[in-house]
Amino acid sequence: MIALGSNQRHPLIGLPADIVAEAFAALEMDDIDVFATSPIIASLPVGPSKRRFANAAAILSTPLDPPEFLWRLQEIEEHFGRERRGGKWGSRVLDLDIILWSGGLWASEAPALAIPHAHMGLRGFVLQPAATIAPDWRDPLSNLTLRQLNTRFSKAKRLDQREQPL
Ligand code: ATP
Ligand code: CA
Ligand code: CA
Repeated sequence: MIALGSNQRHPLIGLPADIVAEAFAALEMDDIDVFATSPIIASLPVGPSKRRFANAAAILSTPLDPPEFLWRLQEIEEHFGRERRGGKWGSRVLDLDIILWSGGLWASEAPALAIPHAHMGLRGFVLQPAATIAPDWRDPLSNLTLRQLNTRFSKAKRLDQREQPL
């Protein structure tokens, strides 16, 4: 399962939502099968970038191992014109993160790769689309399903908002 995000225009493709839709198509290759794609949602920016994001999730099937698959995702990001100098959480044409991997865990340093994705459980823009295509998939760390994580996240967010001063 991967999460897709974009918050920059592409000179040819156009708006972030169109870039994410185009990325769904670009992922389909000889050794990557796009099994399911979520609706594309709009979400507010995290960190230093100011523009709204288009976010989505997809279930893929591949014989590649996690590092090989990560390199492939990075090639696609570069193909879409992403430049690495923007820094973590900066504006980007396309961000492709591995969220879950057949229910298993992965941790390596070269390449730096952690599955499940470190911040998955705290990001509504990842949980919401992911829960629409795989509500019963479990996060192996918390053993909660994506549906449960998404419900918890949305409840916590509503409480947060209630506590804001009027
Ligand atoms: P975040 O990881 O918090 O969503 P980001 O996506 O903006 O931030 P990037 O600059 O795209 O961060 O990636 C930084 C590094 O994160 C990548 O070079 C990659 O090696 C590493 N990484 C670790 N775990 C994952 C994962 N599950 N999926 C994708 N990249 C990962
Ligand atoms: Ca990311
Ligand atoms: Ca990333």
